[in-house]
Amino acid sequence: METMDNDLTFGVYDALCLACDVPAMVNDIGLCESCNAKMERDLIRQREWDYSASAFGCPVDKREELRNHVIAQYGKALELLAAEPPRTARSRSRKKKRKPTR
Ligand SMILES: [Zn+2]
Repeated sequence: METMDNDLTFGVYDALCLACDVPAMVNDIGLCESCNAKMERDLIRQREWDYSASAFGCPVDKREELRNHVIAQYGKALELLAAEPPRTARSRSRKKKRKPTR
């Protein structure tokens, strides 16, 4: 089956990105591709391995290496998350902006 040529599962539906509020193709947690990339890096910085798609396929003993790599490349400041628990589809907070419309 042919899909969009992305390495991640984007192309789910068009909606507003939860983070930047721009209409875009968002993934299953409501983030556009660039915000998702930022969140991935934030999750790795915070060692939220279970939430990170990049870390998911990464062997446990390579995770710190991955984190060091992210920090070396992008710095250790969080880009998207504000030092709070990651927002997932299940624990979507209502206080922030609009929810994605289907
Ligand atoms: Zn976005």
